[in-house]
Amino acid sequence: MPQPPLVLIFSGLDPTGGAGIQADIEAIAAQGAHAATLVTALTVQDTQDVMGVEPVAAPFLRAQLETLLRDVRVAAIKIGLLGAASQIAVIERAIDESDAPVVLDPVLHAGGGAELADETLRRALLERLVPRARVVTPNGAEARRLAPHAKTLDDCGATLLARGAAHVLITGGDEPGDPSVNTWYAPGAPPRRFEWPRLPGPFHGAGCTLASAIAARLALGDDIATALARAQAYTHEALKRARRIGRGRAVPSRLP
Ligand code: PLP
Repeated sequence: MPQPPLVLIFSGLDPTGGAGIQADIEAIAAQGAHAATLVTALTVQDTQDVMGVEPVAAPFLRAQLETLLRDVRVAAIKIGLLGAASQIAVIERAIDESDAPVVLDPVLHAGGGAELADETLRRALLERLVPRARVVTPNGAEARRLAPHAKTLDDCGATLLARGAAHVLITGGDEPGDPSVNTWYAPGAPPRRFEWPRLPGPFHGAGCTLASAIAARLALGDDIATALARAQAYTHEALKRARRIGRGRAVPSRLP
């Protein structure tokens, strides 16, 4: 019987289905991997913004993780929205136990502007998860917040590498200009830019889609360059076919 590689997701539930766990499941399934889901928080939101976050208690998350790990083998871990800094110890446990590559999407605010991480959580992400990440995928605003002393986005990328991330992909979808530019930073290599024609957005759930697709590609055995290239191409196609499901931002079409 075929056994697809499994991507363990830590992510929030967005009732619109545009971002969060549903985005992750769809993007991972579309790559041919299997998503196992640990929900970090329920949210109150629409396609315009997030109005509330209700974290799942860390001991409950830990019980879910331990039960799962007794049963399955994890090939990659994707981390999205966290409900509280106390959940990070559970994630560290998952990383220690599985030794799988980690894709960290440091969700600090919603596209609509709502803050999704306080200072304690921001610092914990930077100090405890960035150093364990195979890839960190901030958008421009998140990269600036994670590296507040950096003058340019390239300085932000260098700062996150210095913090211990193996690779950094700063996405440019929310930055002005056409094309939209994503930049890959790796130790000892010059920044590599990926240019994508600007699509008529704005979008809801683009970052979750990209990070999950990268995690799935790594789980399927792609090297990092191939994973980043394929996941971006997949996300660009999903955004090209985006649909408007409400009054706010459009949602990527992640399934064929
Ligand atoms: N809600 C959840 C659960 C998320 O994980 C995210 C982003 O990762 C958002 C909302 C915000 O998504 P966006 O900025 O694409 O609107």
